[in-house]
Amino acid sequence: MTDRLDFYNLAARRKDGVPADFVWCKWTAINDSYLLAGCAKPTAIYRSGKRKGHFVWPSARDLMQIIVSDAEVLAERSRWEAETGHCSNCSGSGKRIKSSTILPDGEHQILYRKCERCTDGRLPEKKPS
Ligand SMILES: [Zn+2]
Repeated sequence: MTDRLDFYNLAARRKDGVPADFVWCKWTAINDSYLLAGCAKPTAIYRSGKRKGHFVWPSARDLMQIIVSDAEVLAERSRWEAETGHCSNCSGSGKRIKSSTILPDGEHQILYRKCERCTDGRLPEKKPS
């Protein structure tokens, strides 16, 4: 598994009226919740410049706003872990991001460290109590 899962997107997509391909682009913390602003489809991808590879989003007034709580995000993580047996901390990759740097040539360098919660993305078996 290489793609990072975004449990905020997954929690938002469970809400009524939210498109199945909703992607947030801006968020604001509100007590124990988050206000996510996003849309179903970014309008394009930057082809050059320092934002190369990043999505181009519609203007702020055209973004959908959705409130997602901490509890909903946690429930999404638990659901995913129960379904897959993988660790939600590292999206089942066994690696966490240690640092993320934009190099002078515009390339994006990401360094990883081992996930402290799992072994190669797998959670330890739960012992029956
Ligand atoms: Zn992990």
